[in-house]
Amino acid sequence: ARVFADRLKGLPAPATIEMAARARALRAQGAPVISLALGEPDFATPPAVVQAAHEAALAGQTKYPPVDGTPALKAAVARKFARDNGLDYAPSEIMVSNGGKQVIFNAFMATLNPGDEVVVPAPYWVSYPLIARMFGAKPVFVPCREEDGFRLRADALAQAMGPRTRWLVLNFPSNPTGAVCTQADLEAIAEVLRAYPDTWILSDEIYEHLVFDGARAPSIAAVAPDLKERIITLNGVSKAYAMTGWRVGFAGGPADLIAAMRGVQGNATSGICTIAQAAAAAALDGPADLVADMVAVYSRRRRMVVEALQAVPGLTCALPAGAFYAYPGVAGCLGRRAAGGRLLESDLDFAQALLEEEYVATVPGSAFGASPYLRLSCATSDEALAEACARISRFVSGLC
Ligand code: PLP
Repeated sequence: ARVFADRLKGLPAPATIEMAARARALRAQGAPVISLALGEPDFATPPAVVQAAHEAALAGQTKYPPVDGTPALKAAVARKFARDNGLDYAPSEIMVSNGGKQVIFNAFMATLNPGDEVVVPAPYWVSYPLIARMFGAKPVFVPCREEDGFRLRADALAQAMGPRTRWLVLNFPSNPTGAVCTQADLEAIAEVLRAYPDTWILSDEIYEHLVFDGARAPSIAAVAPDLKERIITLNGVSKAYAMTGWRVGFAGGPADLIAAMRGVQGNATSGICTIAQAAAAAALDGPADLVADMVAVYSRRRRMVVEALQAVPGLTCALPAGAFYAYPGVAGCLGRRAAGGRLLESDLDFAQALLEEEYVATVPGSAFGASPYLRLSCATSDEALAEACARISRFVSGLC
């Protein structure tokens, strides 16, 4: 028999990747697929950032890096945390990883024992519970309700916390809803956490800069400095600087936890591509309008998509405060039959029928632990978004 590790048992592939793969397969057969499944900026990496990578490579920055990041990038990260978040981190409190995703992997591997619990507000980014499960931990979900703007309420959090809670994950602006917690929300959350001194807090702020209409996304480590010794502040360049392929994320946190995470990473990867690190430093130190120009485009597209979806009878759609997704509700369409014959009993049925009949790839809310919704990425061209919305409208009006 071919033997695989127990830790992989029952571990599904993320639904986001699955839907993207199905869309790709249909496209390979010649179908005119529009994929709104993946959260990936359609912009090119800014040329000055690419130039910095080029120069680093030509200057011979091609040797093994320090495991936790080059001094130059760690210094740029420290400046970023001070400038944007009002957070002071020493070099021993910073590490660079292969994307924000590896920060989570390192942190969970360094701290979780089988049977531990990881509290995850839902809807959530698919990877938090999947990575927690890889280390034998149990995800515990806290519902964030649409009527609360999908923000985490302290009273709901309090019900999920317990003696085995090893981590609380916070992700605001949220993937998939775009929800942003206010300073007051975070103060109330911090108050709950003070009763659980053995719980670490992962604050995933990767969508920090992608906020609209004057919204601000505060960092919990700045809101509750007394908890900073338990907080990993996660960020990266993938989303804000259109650098998903460079694989650079980073974290600030207490020196002992960062050292443990460095130990994990040293055994896994020996550190991050030096050339990508030079590019990331250039992005972080680059002019702020690099990001502002992209944010203006995301904001306009999000408004266009939300307004188009709101006009479809049977769909509901709130205007997200951040990130680059729309998260429409499809409750009004369930129990009906798509033109192609499929009975829509769930958001998964909706997403599958929409892909098969109108060639629009989305991800069902069930993948993020909140149904019945769909997640649509607005990080694609205006034309593709307009066409996708027209197809969704046609799909819904064809339901019987
Ligand atoms: N956190 C959230 C909420 C995300 O949506 C993503 C990417 O989809 C990541 C972290 C990880 O990004 P990366 O590993 O590219 O830095």
